[in-house]
Amino acid sequence: MAKEKLGLNTICTHTGEIKDEQFKGAVSPIYMSTSYQFEDVDVKRYPRYFNTPNQEFLSKKIAALEHTEAAMIFGSGMAAVSTTFLAFLKTGDHLVVQNPLYGGTSNFIREELPKYGIEFTFTDGYQVSDFEKAIQPNTKLIHIETPSNPLMTITDIKGVAALAKSKQIITTIDNTFASPIIQNPIDLGMDIVIHSATKYMGGHSDILAGAVAASQEHITTIWNVGKNLGGSLSDFMVWMLERSMKTMALRVKAQSKNAKKLAKYLEKHPDVKHVYYPGLKSHPEHKLAKSQMNRFGGMMSFELTDNLNASNFLKALSLIKPSMSLAGVESTMLLPTLTSHALLSAEERAKLGINDGLIRFSVGIESKKDLINDIENAFSQIK
Ligand SMILES: *Cc1c(COP(=O)(O)O)cnc(C)c1O
Repeated sequence: MAKEKLGLNTICTHTGEIKDEQFKGAVSPIYMSTSYQFEDVDVKRYPRYFNTPNQEFLSKKIAALEHTEAAMIFGSGMAAVSTTFLAFLKTGDHLVVQNPLYGGTSNFIREELPKYGIEFTFTDGYQVSDFEKAIQPNTKLIHIETPSNPLMTITDIKGVAALAKSKQIITTIDNTFASPIIQNPIDLGMDIVIHSATKYMGGHSDILAGAVAASQEHITTIWNVGKNLGGSLSDFMVWMLERSMKTMALRVKAQSKNAKKLAKYLEKHPDVKHVYYPGLKSHPEHKLAKSQMNRFGGMMSFELTDNLNASNFLKALSLIKPSMSLAGVESTMLLPTLTSHALLSAEERAKLGINDGLIRFSVGIESKKDLINDIENAFSQIK
């Protein structure tokens, strides 16, 4: 069977599995060796070279899901981001990066890139024209994130990719919030796709990992830097990630379906001022989202009416966990003002539209009626 004919669930379950020739087990064996034979072999394997059997084979699954030639697995999403940026930027180069942006990526750029003499510009907004304005003669890389955290803004992937191509600038996208099940940026012209695999790829809130997918040429460029920076993932966790990814399409579809229903329910709720979800017709980029995503994902944010306290609301929940991070099979909520965006000033937050009543909601796979009951109970307790 030709590889490109395989369906999503088949790729998730089977692509990149390692055949257990010795015992004929049903799942990939795990190879924990940090030491491999160096003579008379095709590949000199070492975990920091991203090429142990488990690393190499799981990369095939990720490449198949993102429609690329190659992929690499990292020890965290930030290892994937930082290694990729440092692979394509050197002293005197300029990076254009989207605002709003994931906090960790933003911190890496602001705190580390100046040490290397790498210049950067955060865009004023997420329209293609904002990127165009930020480009300089020494711009080498444009980085976008869509949907973004926490307001779920949607960037025109095709538009930014075309702009960058016309100026021979390489493009990277953080595809964490969508996952490869929902959005394939390579098909829209992006060069490199980055994931925090801690989120939907892992999906059970128990794996810290990252991934990058791109052409073999770009992956070789990233590998050359990655082997020096040393951000690879241990084989046990690679194996765990493979196990988790078998159910990724099932999970993400269930989370998307739940999220759409909950977004509609919250939008009609008298105690909710606004819901930010690309699947709602009221979302300003709903049409754009529909054109580049095949579902709208499990992430949303909503804002309580001014008379209600968001901290008290979170404390009043019993099923939905108030907790950091996202994309697990269990539903979680957090307050961006106290977590992801705590380091920004109140003024900077206001400019982004992030205020005290805003709650970010990572929708899990629980039964919809139980999630709604939990939310209703919380509202009645705090009023
Ligand atoms: C979590 C996250 C990251 C960073 O990933 P880690 O695995 O925590 O290092 C990067 N981008 C986005 C959008 C994220 O949500």
